[in-house]
Amino acid sequence: MPDRPHQRKDLTDPAKKAPDPGARVFFALWPDASVRCSLDELAGQVHKACGGRRMRAESAHLTLVFVGQVVLARVESLKSVASGVRVPAFDLRLDRVGCWKRNRIAWLGTRETPLPLAELVQGLEQGLGREGFKFDQRPYFPHLTLARSARCEAPLPTDADIRWRVEEFVLVRSSLLPGGAAYGIIGRWPLR
Ligand code: ATP
Ligand code: MG
Repeated sequence: MPDRPHQRKDLTDPAKKAPDPGARVFFALWPDASVRCSLDELAGQVHKACGGRRMRAESAHLTLVFVGQVVLARVESLKSVASGVRVPAFDLRLDRVGCWKRNRIAWLGTRETPLPLAELVQGLEQGLGREGFKFDQRPYFPHLTLARSARCEAPLPTDADIRWRVEEFVLVRSSLLPGGAAYGIIGRWPLR
């Protein structure tokens, strides 16, 4: 067995800890089983019409704020930002299907953004700003992605109407894998 004094030293020297690998994270609304089932059915219809890569039911979500890459040491600050946001539970009506030609994303959104949803996003953005996080600054447009690489020219379903009682929001870690992103929920906060 060769002697490896440097490796032994690394294990005991706190200044030489392994680098923080970081994570790609975002705040989101995560559907319950019943809403997920309705979303999956609609995604099937949209996929039939527009082709592309269909949303996987288990990944369905509505992004609130995309934070992006952070060091793991900062995840606790993200959680305290989330704990500081006080917004009541609300009803979200998903009744608008569209497709963006620029990125070929077919999506499901709402004709009327509920006030608590706007306040939730605003509360998170303000808290993130106070904690020094950088995040996407584009105007917020609530939507769930139903299909990627979609043919937007195809006629879309016009009768979507999915009702979602939103009672919590989550912090999600995204791992970008060759077959598409894999998500893991790393925190949950109730709305009341
Ligand atoms: P993939 O990138 O593999 O196609 P994905 O877009 O679902 O999968 P992420 O890129 O990790 O996975 O994004 C997670 C969520 O955040 C998605 O809902 C995505 O639309 C949204 N998102 C990603 N990048 C941004 C960004 N720069 N600004 C706002 N939202 C974003
Ligand atoms: Mg992406």
